[in-house]
Amino acid sequence: MAYDPDNIFARILRGELPSTRVYEDDETLAFMDIMPRVPGHVLVIPKTPCRNLLDASAAQLAACMATTQKLSHAVMKAFGAGGVTVQQFNETIGGQEVFHLHFHVLPRREGDRLLPPG
Ligand code: C5P
Repeated sequence: MAYDPDNIFARILRGELPSTRVYEDDETLAFMDIMPRVPGHVLVIPKTPCRNLLDASAAQLAACMATTQKLSHAVMKAFGAGGVTVQQFNETIGGQEVFHLHFHVLPRREGDRLLPPG
């Protein structure tokens, strides 16, 4: 499937749409999910074009995983969580809604309720 350069996250990367950025390096960006499914729900994306896991390069995956690990520690500390759930969806049938690779980082606390996607 083709990559749409005007998808929402590409526009966030270009600064055309607002987001609450929490971390950035040369390869990746992390920002708060606009509809958090738990408090502290963060998204990690590569800065280069990639539709999803199915067309990701090894370098994009390595960079995203390194940032996902950093952000996991950060949100656990910031939100008093004991762990994190990391989720990632591919194509419409797989639950993907925005077609730029992203990883959901969801801090988890005792007794919390993880809202369903969508
Ligand atoms: O299902 P998928 O993993 O594609 O979900 C896209 C996510 O992007 C949703 O959790 C949605 O709340 C988030 N989003 C966002 N900012 C936008 C548009 C969508 O954080 N402007």
